[in-house]
Amino acid sequence: MARPHVCFDRILPRELFRPQATERRAGRTRAISPIGKAWMNGSTLRVRFIGGTTAQRAKAKEQAGWWEAVANLKFVFDDAPDAEIRIAFDPNDGAWSYLGTDCRSIPLDEPTMNLGFLDGGTAAHEFGHAIGLAHEHQNPAGGIQWNEAVVIREMAGSPNFWDARTTRHNILERYRADQIHGTAFDPKSIMLYFFPAEWTTNGIGTEANEVLSDLDRAFVGGAKMYPKKTAPTVDTAVELQVGARRRTKAAIGKAGEEDLFRFTVKTAGKHQIDTAGPSDLVMKLFGPDSPTALIAEDDDSGTSLNARIVAPLEPGQYWAQVRHYNRASGVGDYTIRVRRL
Ligand SMILES: [Zn+2]
Repeated sequence: MARPHVCFDRILPRELFRPQATERRAGRTRAISPIGKAWMNGSTLRVRFIGGTTAQRAKAKEQAGWWEAVANLKFVFDDAPDAEIRIAFDPNDGAWSYLGTDCRSIPLDEPTMNLGFLDGGTAAHEFGHAIGLAHEHQNPAGGIQWNEAVVIREMAGSPNFWDARTTRHNILERYRADQIHGTAFDPKSIMLYFFPAEWTTNGIGTEANEVLSDLDRAFVGGAKMYPKKTAPTVDTAVELQVGARRRTKAAIGKAGEEDLFRFTVKTAGKHQIDTAGPSDLVMKLFGPDSPTALIAEDDDSGTSLNARIVAPLEPGQYWAQVRHYNRASGVGDYTIRVRRL
Protein backbone atom coordinates (compact mmCIF):
# COMPACT_ATOMS: atom_id res chain seq x y z
CA MET A 1 0.00 0.00 0.00
CA ALA A 2 1.49 3.29 -1.13
CA ARG A 3 -0.42 5.61 1.14
CA PRO A 4 -0.60 5.42 4.91
CA HIS A 5 -3.86 4.95 6.73
CA VAL A 6 -4.75 8.28 8.24
CA CYS A 7 -7.36 8.59 10.92
CA PHE A 8 -9.33 11.75 11.43
CA ASP A 9 -10.72 13.32 14.56
CA ARG A 10 -14.40 13.98 14.36
CA ILE A 11 -14.72 17.49 15.70
CA LEU A 12 -18.15 18.89 16.41
CA PRO A 13 -18.99 21.70 13.97
CA ARG A 14 -19.02 24.44 16.58
CA GLU A 15 -15.47 23.59 17.48
CA LEU A 16 -13.80 23.39 14.10
CA PHE A 17 -10.15 24.23 14.25
CA ARG A 18 -8.95 27.70 13.63
CA PRO A 19 -5.65 27.94 11.80
CA GLN A 20 -2.76 28.45 14.13
CA ALA A 21 -1.11 31.86 14.08
CA THR A 22 2.13 31.04 15.85
CA GLU A 23 5.30 30.24 13.97
CA ARG A 24 6.33 26.71 13.33
CA ARG A 25 9.07 25.30 15.45
CA ALA A 26 10.81 22.24 14.16
CA GLY A 27 11.21 19.06 16.16
CA ARG A 28 8.52 19.40 18.79
CA THR A 29 5.22 17.61 18.96
CA ARG A 30 3.29 16.64 22.04
CA ALA A 31 0.76 14.27 23.49
CA ILE A 32 -2.21 16.58 23.55
CA SER A 33 -5.75 16.67 24.86
CA PRO A 34 -8.21 19.41 23.91
CA ILE A 35 -9.43 21.07 27.11
CA GLY A 36 -12.90 20.04 28.19
CA LYS A 37 -13.07 16.77 26.25
CA ALA A 38 -11.89 14.45 29.02
CA TRP A 39 -14.38 12.29 30.91
CA MET A 40 -14.68 12.62 34.66
CA ASN A 41 -11.74 10.94 36.32
CA GLY A 42 -12.83 7.51 37.53
CA SER A 43 -15.56 7.13 34.89
CA THR A 44 -16.88 3.81 33.70
CA LEU A 45 -17.44 4.02 29.94
CA ARG A 46 -19.80 1.51 28.42
CA VAL A 47 -19.12 0.18 24.93
CA ARG A 48 -21.56 -1.15 22.36
CA PHE A 49 -20.44 -2.94 19.22
CA ILE A 50 -22.40 -2.34 16.04
CA GLY A 51 -21.48 -5.37 13.96
CA GLY A 52 -17.95 -6.71 13.75
CA THR A 53 -16.56 -10.22 13.89
CA THR A 54 -15.50 -11.98 17.07
CA ALA A 55 -11.85 -11.34 16.13
CA GLN A 56 -12.43 -7.63 15.43
CA ARG A 57 -14.28 -7.17 18.69
CA ALA A 58 -11.58 -9.00 20.60
CA LYS A 59 -8.89 -6.75 19.17
CA ALA A 60 -10.81 -3.58 20.03
CA LYS A 61 -11.33 -4.86 23.56
CA GLU A 62 -7.71 -5.85 24.00
CA GLN A 63 -6.33 -2.49 22.90
CA ALA A 64 -8.87 -0.50 24.94
CA GLY A 65 -7.34 -2.39 27.84
CA TRP A 66 -3.98 -0.76 27.17
CA TRP A 67 -5.47 2.56 28.30
CA GLU A 68 -7.45 0.99 31.13
CA ALA A 69 -4.18 -0.31 32.55
CA VAL A 70 -2.76 3.20 32.98
CA ALA A 71 -5.79 5.48 33.32
CA ASN A 72 -8.39 5.75 36.07
CA LEU A 73 -11.09 4.64 33.64
CA LYS A 74 -13.05 1.45 33.11
CA PHE A 75 -14.50 0.11 29.89
CA VAL A 76 -17.50 -2.17 30.16
CA PHE A 77 -18.37 -4.01 26.96
CA ASP A 78 -22.04 -4.55 27.76
CA ASP A 79 -23.59 -3.38 24.47
CA ALA A 80 -25.86 -1.04 26.43
CA PRO A 81 -28.26 0.87 24.16
CA ASP A 82 -27.05 4.15 25.66
CA ALA A 83 -23.34 3.19 25.82
CA GLU A 84 -21.00 6.19 25.73
CA ILE A 85 -18.82 4.56 23.04
CA ARG A 86 -20.44 2.85 20.03
CA ILE A 87 -18.15 1.07 17.60
CA ALA A 88 -18.90 0.21 13.98
CA PHE A 89 -16.57 -1.76 11.69
CA ASP A 90 -17.49 -0.35 8.27
CA PRO A 91 -14.52 -1.17 5.98
CA ASN A 92 -15.45 1.69 3.66
CA ASP A 93 -15.44 4.40 6.30
CA GLY A 94 -11.81 4.39 7.46
CA ALA A 95 -10.87 4.65 11.13
CA TRP A 96 -12.07 7.53 13.23
CA SER A 97 -13.53 8.49 16.57
CA TYR A 98 -15.16 11.45 18.21
CA LEU A 99 -13.13 13.02 21.00
CA GLY A 100 -13.93 12.19 24.63
CA THR A 101 -17.14 13.70 25.93
CA ASP A 102 -18.14 14.78 22.41
CA CYS A 103 -19.37 11.19 22.09
CA ARG A 104 -22.30 12.22 24.28
CA SER A 105 -23.58 14.60 21.58
CA ILE A 106 -23.95 11.87 18.96
CA PRO A 107 -27.39 10.27 18.51
CA LEU A 108 -27.52 6.90 20.29
CA ASP A 109 -28.22 4.94 17.10
CA GLU A 110 -25.02 6.23 15.48
CA PRO A 111 -21.46 5.02 16.04
CA THR A 112 -18.98 7.26 17.87
CA MET A 113 -16.06 5.26 16.45
CA ASN A 114 -15.39 3.32 13.27
CA LEU A 115 -12.70 0.66 12.96
CA GLY A 116 -12.63 0.15 9.20
CA PHE A 117 -9.14 -1.28 9.53
CA LEU A 118 -7.33 -2.67 12.55
CA ASP A 119 -3.66 -2.87 11.60
CA GLY A 120 -1.09 -2.34 14.36
CA GLY A 121 -2.37 -0.18 17.17
CA THR A 122 -5.31 1.34 15.30
CA ALA A 123 -7.88 0.37 17.92
CA ALA A 124 -5.69 1.79 20.70
CA HIS A 125 -5.28 4.98 18.69
CA GLU A 126 -9.06 5.37 18.28
CA PHE A 127 -9.68 4.61 21.94
CA GLY A 128 -7.11 7.35 22.62
CA HIS A 129 -9.46 9.75 20.84
CA ALA A 130 -12.43 8.31 22.71
CA ILE A 131 -10.82 9.18 26.06
CA GLY A 132 -10.03 12.70 24.85
CA LEU A 133 -6.67 12.62 23.09
CA ALA A 134 -6.07 14.48 19.84
CA HIS A 135 -3.50 13.92 17.14
CA GLU A 136 0.12 14.59 17.87
CA HIS A 137 0.64 16.10 14.46
CA GLN A 138 -1.88 18.87 15.18
CA ASN A 139 -0.04 20.21 18.20
CA PRO A 140 0.12 24.02 18.21
CA ALA A 141 3.88 23.86 18.62
CA GLY A 142 4.08 22.27 15.19
CA GLY A 143 6.61 19.52 14.75
CA ILE A 144 6.18 18.28 11.23
CA GLN A 145 7.24 20.50 8.36
CA TRP A 146 4.57 19.58 5.87
CA ASN A 147 4.99 19.82 2.14
CA GLU A 148 1.39 20.92 1.88
CA ALA A 149 1.04 20.43 -1.88
CA VAL A 150 2.24 16.82 -1.63
CA VAL A 151 0.01 16.02 1.35
CA ILE A 152 -3.06 17.47 -0.36
CA ARG A 153 -2.28 15.57 -3.57
CA GLU A 154 -1.67 12.26 -1.78
CA MET A 155 -4.80 12.45 0.36
CA ALA A 156 -6.89 13.23 -2.72
CA GLY A 157 -6.19 9.67 -3.91
CA SER A 158 -7.25 6.23 -2.67
CA PRO A 159 -8.23 5.25 -0.03
CA ASN A 160 -9.15 8.65 1.42
CA PHE A 161 -10.30 10.78 -1.53
CA TRP A 162 -10.19 13.91 0.63
CA ASP A 163 -10.59 17.36 -0.86
CA ALA A 164 -8.06 20.03 0.09
CA ARG A 165 -10.28 21.46 2.81
CA THR A 166 -10.67 18.07 4.49
CA THR A 167 -6.95 17.41 4.34
CA ARG A 168 -6.26 20.82 5.86
CA HIS A 169 -8.68 20.08 8.68
CA ASN A 170 -7.48 16.55 9.39
CA ILE A 171 -3.76 16.91 8.92
CA LEU A 172 -2.32 20.35 8.28
CA GLU A 173 -4.20 22.57 10.73
CA ARG A 174 -3.26 22.66 14.36
CA TYR A 175 -5.01 23.37 17.62
CA ARG A 176 -4.70 26.77 19.23
CA ALA A 177 -2.40 26.70 22.23
CA ASP A 178 -5.28 27.59 24.56
CA GLN A 179 -7.34 24.62 23.36
CA ILE A 180 -5.12 21.87 24.67
CA HIS A 181 -3.35 20.29 27.60
CA GLY A 182 0.00 18.96 26.47
CA THR A 183 3.11 17.09 27.56
CA ALA A 184 6.68 17.03 26.29
CA PHE A 185 7.82 15.97 22.84
CA ASP A 186 6.80 12.42 22.03
CA PRO A 187 7.65 11.04 18.59
CA LYS A 188 6.65 7.59 19.89
CA SER A 189 3.04 8.43 20.79
CA ILE A 190 0.33 6.07 19.59
CA MET A 191 -1.54 9.27 18.67
CA LEU A 192 1.06 10.10 16.04
CA TYR A 193 0.47 8.45 12.70
CA PHE A 194 3.04 7.30 10.21
CA PHE A 195 3.82 9.96 7.62
CA PRO A 196 6.38 9.41 4.85
CA ALA A 197 9.44 11.64 4.61
CA GLU A 198 8.34 12.76 1.13
CA TRP A 199 5.39 14.55 2.70
CA THR A 200 7.69 17.02 4.44
CA THR A 201 9.95 19.82 3.29
CA ASN A 202 12.82 18.72 5.53
CA GLY A 203 12.70 15.00 4.74
CA ILE A 204 11.79 14.07 8.31
CA GLY A 205 8.70 11.85 8.45
CA THR A 206 7.33 9.90 11.38
CA GLU A 207 7.43 6.28 12.47
CA ALA A 208 4.45 3.95 12.66
CA ASN A 209 3.86 3.69 16.40
CA GLU A 210 1.91 0.59 17.35
CA VAL A 211 1.99 0.53 21.14
CA LEU A 212 1.48 3.13 23.86
CA SER A 213 4.63 5.12 24.51
CA ASP A 214 5.96 5.83 27.99
CA LEU A 215 4.77 9.42 27.61
CA ASP A 216 1.30 8.33 26.47
CA ARG A 217 1.05 6.28 29.65
CA ALA A 218 2.41 9.07 31.83
CA PHE A 219 0.14 11.70 30.28
CA VAL A 220 -3.09 9.73 30.45
CA GLY A 221 -2.41 8.46 33.96
CA GLY A 222 -1.13 11.89 35.02
CA ALA A 223 -2.57 14.95 36.68
CA LYS A 224 -4.24 16.51 33.63
CA MET A 225 -6.11 13.37 32.57
CA TYR A 226 -7.00 10.29 34.63
CA PRO A 227 -4.75 9.86 37.66
CA LYS A 228 -5.37 6.61 39.53
CA LYS A 229 -4.47 8.14 42.86
CA THR A 230 -7.81 9.84 43.17
CA ALA A 231 -11.08 8.12 42.46
CA PRO A 232 -14.19 10.13 43.26
CA THR A 233 -17.31 8.08 42.99
CA VAL A 234 -20.76 9.13 42.00
CA ASP A 235 -22.21 7.44 45.10
CA THR A 236 -20.07 9.20 47.68
CA ALA A 237 -20.76 12.70 46.36
CA VAL A 238 -21.73 15.29 48.99
CA GLU A 239 -25.30 16.48 48.51
CA LEU A 240 -25.83 20.24 48.05
CA GLN A 241 -29.20 21.96 48.34
CA VAL A 242 -29.92 24.45 45.59
CA GLY A 243 -30.31 27.87 47.23
CA ALA A 244 -29.11 26.68 50.65
CA ARG A 245 -28.74 29.53 53.13
CA ARG A 246 -25.21 28.58 54.12
CA ARG A 247 -22.27 27.70 51.91
CA THR A 248 -21.03 24.12 52.31
CA LYS A 249 -17.56 23.78 53.83
CA ALA A 250 -15.02 21.50 52.18
CA ALA A 251 -11.29 21.05 51.74
CA ILE A 252 -8.73 19.58 49.41
CA GLY A 253 -7.08 17.67 52.23
CA LYS A 254 -4.28 16.06 50.27
CA ALA A 255 -2.59 16.80 46.98
CA GLY A 256 -4.44 15.43 43.98
CA GLU A 257 -7.75 15.01 45.81
CA GLU A 258 -10.95 15.55 43.83
CA ASP A 259 -14.12 16.42 45.71
CA LEU A 260 -17.47 15.51 44.23
CA PHE A 261 -20.81 17.21 44.97
CA ARG A 262 -24.27 16.34 43.79
CA PHE A 263 -27.38 18.47 43.55
CA THR A 264 -30.87 18.26 42.14
CA VAL A 265 -32.40 20.97 40.02
CA LYS A 266 -36.19 21.02 40.42
CA THR A 267 -36.94 24.24 38.53
CA ALA A 268 -35.30 24.94 35.19
CA GLY A 269 -33.31 28.16 34.95
CA LYS A 270 -29.94 29.79 35.10
CA HIS A 271 -27.88 28.44 37.99
CA GLN A 272 -24.59 29.48 39.52
CA ILE A 273 -22.16 27.11 41.22
CA ASP A 274 -19.17 28.77 42.82
CA THR A 275 -16.38 28.12 45.26
CA ALA A 276 -15.00 30.64 47.75
CA GLY A 277 -11.93 30.82 49.96
CA PRO A 278 -8.16 31.08 49.67
CA SER A 279 -7.52 28.06 47.41
CA ASP A 280 -6.93 28.04 43.65
CA LEU A 281 -9.64 25.68 42.49
CA VAL A 282 -10.85 24.14 39.25
CA MET A 283 -14.44 22.92 38.87
CA LYS A 284 -16.26 20.75 36.36
CA LEU A 285 -20.03 20.46 36.09
CA PHE A 286 -21.71 17.29 34.79
CA GLY A 287 -25.32 16.38 34.05
CA PRO A 288 -28.25 16.30 33.81
CA ASP A 289 -28.64 12.77 35.18
CA SER A 290 -25.29 11.65 33.80
CA PRO A 291 -21.95 11.91 35.57
CA THR A 292 -20.18 11.52 32.22
CA ALA A 293 -21.80 14.46 30.39
CA LEU A 294 -19.56 17.50 30.87
CA ILE A 295 -21.42 20.82 30.83
CA ALA A 296 -18.61 23.23 31.68
CA GLU A 297 -15.16 23.52 33.23
CA ASP A 298 -13.85 26.61 35.01
CA ASP A 299 -10.67 27.73 36.69
CA ASP A 300 -10.69 31.37 37.75
CA SER A 301 -14.06 32.96 36.94
CA GLY A 302 -14.96 33.29 40.62
CA THR A 303 -13.61 35.70 43.22
CA SER A 304 -9.79 35.70 43.39
CA LEU A 305 -8.70 32.20 42.31
CA ASN A 306 -12.05 30.51 42.73
CA ALA A 307 -14.16 28.71 40.17
CA ARG A 308 -17.61 29.80 39.07
CA ILE A 309 -19.91 28.22 36.53
CA VAL A 310 -23.14 29.86 35.39
CA ALA A 311 -25.33 27.71 33.17
CA PRO A 312 -28.98 27.26 32.24
CA LEU A 313 -29.96 23.91 33.79
CA GLU A 314 -32.93 21.66 33.10
CA PRO A 315 -34.48 19.72 35.99
CA GLY A 316 -32.35 16.70 36.91
CA GLN A 317 -29.36 15.50 38.85
CA TYR A 318 -25.99 17.27 38.52
CA TRP A 319 -22.45 16.68 39.74
CA ALA A 320 -19.77 19.27 40.47
CA GLN A 321 -16.18 18.08 40.72
CA VAL A 322 -13.66 20.30 42.48
CA ARG A 323 -9.91 19.97 42.60
CA HIS A 324 -6.93 22.17 43.36
CA TYR A 325 -5.35 23.82 40.33
CA ASN A 326 -2.02 22.42 41.42
CA ARG A 327 -2.63 18.69 41.57
CA ALA A 328 0.94 17.92 42.55
CA SER A 329 0.99 19.84 45.83
CA GLY A 330 -2.07 22.08 46.22
CA VAL A 331 -4.26 21.73 49.34
CA GLY A 332 -6.65 24.08 51.14
CA ASP A 333 -10.09 24.91 52.49
CA TYR A 334 -13.01 26.29 50.53
CA THR A 335 -16.77 26.58 50.51
CA ILE A 336 -19.19 25.80 47.70
CA ARG A 337 -22.73 26.88 46.90
CA VAL A 338 -25.27 26.36 44.14
CA ARG A 339 -28.20 28.69 43.58
CA ARG A 340 -30.72 29.62 40.96
CA LEU A 341 -30.13 33.15 39.66
ZN1 LIG B 1 -6.64 9.63 14.91
